[in-house]
This record gives sequence, structure tokens and C-alpha cells, in this order.
Amino acid sequence: MNPKNQKKFMSIIENHIQEIEQALQERKDDTAPISPDVSVGRLSRLDAMQMQQMALESDRRNREQLQRLQDALIKVKKGTYGTCMKCHKDIAEERLKAQPDAFLCIDCAS
Ligand SMILES: [Zn+2]
Repeated sequence: MNPKNQKKFMSIIENHIQEIEQALQERKDDTAPISPDVSVGRLSRLDAMQMQQMALESDRRNREQLQRLQDALIKVKKGTYGTCMKCHKDIAEERLKAQPDAFLCIDCAS
């Protein structure tokens, strides 16, 4: 990948990281432990717990993605970003745009 593209993808990845960090931040209240006497409006405690589970699951996925994006960023800095880890061919730019944390080309991923 040429340096111009690397720079472009670096900012794409950094934007994604920011978005995810923001989402994690905004979800903080939803993932906090629910105290037994909490008043959660019209929601029952069970509903609140279900919502918390969903929020925790989203958090888990976000953290995984964050990790992959941070790895991708390291690859950009090393100059190995956009190369398939399996066949070492270039990953299509369109694929990287849709999924900046992709480490496999479309052939190897499918
Ligand atoms: Zn491949």
C-alpha cells in the first residue's frame, strides 16, 4: 500500500477507534451494576438486567473491535497494513474501507 493510502487509512482507523470509544463511554451507565433498590422508571428490575446484559454484550464486541483496530493501526505504522495475513496479497481497498480491521483478503476470508 502506498504512503498516501496508508495515511488515509490511518485516519479512517483512528476515526473508528474514536467512535467506538465514544460508544463505550455513552454506554457506561447501562453496563453499571444495578443496585437492588434502584428505581428504573417503568422498567422492572428484570428488564433492567436484560438491558444491562445486552449493553455488556455490545461492550464486549466493541472492545474486541477496538483491539483489532489498534492492531490495524500498528500495521499501518509498520507499513504492513492492507496485506492479507494468509496469502500476503493486497487486500482490496473497498474491503478495507468497509472493514478497516480486516486482516484477510476476501478470498481467504470466505
Ligand atoms: Zn488472502
